[in-house]
Amino acid sequence: MTALTEPTIKVKPTRKQTPAEREIEVAYIKTRDKGCVLHQIVSGHVCKGQWAGEVVPWDAVGLMTFEHVKEGLGGRKPPLDRRHAVLACWDANVWKVETSKYRPEIRKWIADHEPPEEPHA
Ligand SMILES: [Zn+2]
Repeated sequence: MTALTEPTIKVKPTRKQTPAEREIEVAYIKTRDKGCVLHQIVSGHVCKGQWAGEVVPWDAVGLMTFEHVKEGLGGRKPPLDRRHAVLACWDANVWKVETSKYRPEIRKWIADHEPPEEPHA
C-alpha cells in the first residue's frame, strides 16, 4: 500500500477565473460526474434535492451543487475546476455536509479520474 501524500499546492497569485473558463469546467464536471459523486463513493447514500425530495443523481444534474475540496484562502472561493470540484446533491453538500466528512475519498475519486497534471517546466 502506498502512502497517501497531499499533492504540493503551489502558492502563486491566481487571477480570477473568467466566466467563460468557469463554463468550461462546469460542463466538463457535469459530463464526468453525471450525478452526485457521493452516490458512487458512499454505500447507502441517498441523493436528495434542494427540497429534500429523493432524486436519481443522473436525472437531476441540474439540482446538483458543486463541492470544492480546496479551501478558499482568506475567505475567497477557489476557482471552480475539474481537479478540485465534484458534483454533489443537496443532501450531501448542504444539509448533512457529508462532503466534508468524505473529502479524502472525494480527493481520491478525482485523482482516479483525472490524469496527473503536467509538471511545469
Ligand atoms: Zn447525493
